Amino acid sequence: GETIRLLSSSQVITSVVSVVKELIENSLDASATGIDIKLENYGFSKIEVRDNGSGIKVDDVPVMAIKHYTSKISSSEDLERLTTYGFRGEALGSICSVSEVLVTTKTAADDFSIQYALNSNGHVTSKKPSHLGQGTTVTVLNLFKNLPVRKQFYSTNRKCKEELKKVQDLLTAYGIIKPDLRITLTHKKAVIWQKTRVSDHKMACMSVLGTAVMSSMVPFQHCCEYPEINLSGFLPKAESDSSLTSLSSSERSFIFINNRPVLQKEILKLIRQYYSQMTQKDCTRLYPVFFLNIAVPASAVDVNITPDKTQVLLQYKESVLLAVENVLKSLYGPLPA
Ligand code: ADP
Ligand code: MG
Repeated sequence: GETIRLLSSSQVITSVVSVVKELIENSLDASATGIDIKLENYGFSKIEVRDNGSGIKVDDVPVMAIKHYTSKISSSEDLERLTTYGFRGEALGSICSVSEVLVTTKTAADDFSIQYALNSNGHVTSKKPSHLGQGTTVTVLNLFKNLPVRKQFYSTNRKCKEELKKVQDLLTAYGIIKPDLRITLTHKKAVIWQKTRVSDHKMACMSVLGTAVMSSMVPFQHCCEYPEINLSGFLPKAESDSSLTSLSSSERSFIFINNRPVLQKEILKLIRQYYSQMTQKDCTRLYPVFFLNIAVPASAVDVNITPDKTQVLLQYKESVLLAVENVLKSLYGPLPA
């Protein structure tokens, strides 16, 4: 049992960034408007995610980290109208089997917060009163303590810095898609990244991507009725003089499907194709910065392809690709035949 548990857990929790992703998604599902992330030793000694969300009810505490427990869906039909990031009930339990976990939580109904220590099976082993306000703080210590090979893999300075960059990119993505969310990232006691609460996606992009980049972008909006698809976001302006500021030497593209950051290689490729033919810029080394939000009915996406949910199946993918192409054509002109 123990080994099988470890094997499946280590597929969900593959890195510091996957821990941060799962924890902030839980915070967002709990309607948090502020999230503070603190890392020590690039997260390998300590990852702490504090939110001001709804907190965890006392009755849910004993089961919260039990594998496959979720408070978010109760039937397979719920999967068809999914509005939460989480639904697999796998993250907290998986994190417990590869690290030491403390959960401190307080709901609006509780008088004070309680800190729970969890063991590798996700069971509560001790509890004590704490002084934190409403919300939940999850503290993850000694990540991959029982996975020496993985720990070793991340032990170089270069790998650690890459991980930290990935955490920042992840926060950038959630920062864009959740304008009214406040986020801070602290490493070695210093705030290294932050975003304040703003009113819309444009302001959110400005605050996380910079005003220079945003001034070279144009907003777009595109709707289809059958099937119901809504596209919106920001793409680099077609004028070539602005193209330099909206190009980045590293990948800075943000694609969301129903508010979920996703990897969509085909869409990425399309955007690069159209953009590079218009600007004559080599998009194999420089990437256009953009933000694309795709809204489709929840029943038209299957997010349950990979444990980290970054790969999704779209029911009418061809229609979505066509819609994206329409936006690109109107902005950059058609591709040469
Ligand atoms: P899932 O998100 O798929 O439900 P998790 O393992 O991530 O599964 O979390 C298990 C449960 O613990 C959640 O369903 C939720 O009830 C509770 N939980 C975890 N983190 C938080 C949080 N930050 N705020 C409120 N509840 C939480
Ligand atoms: Mg979750």
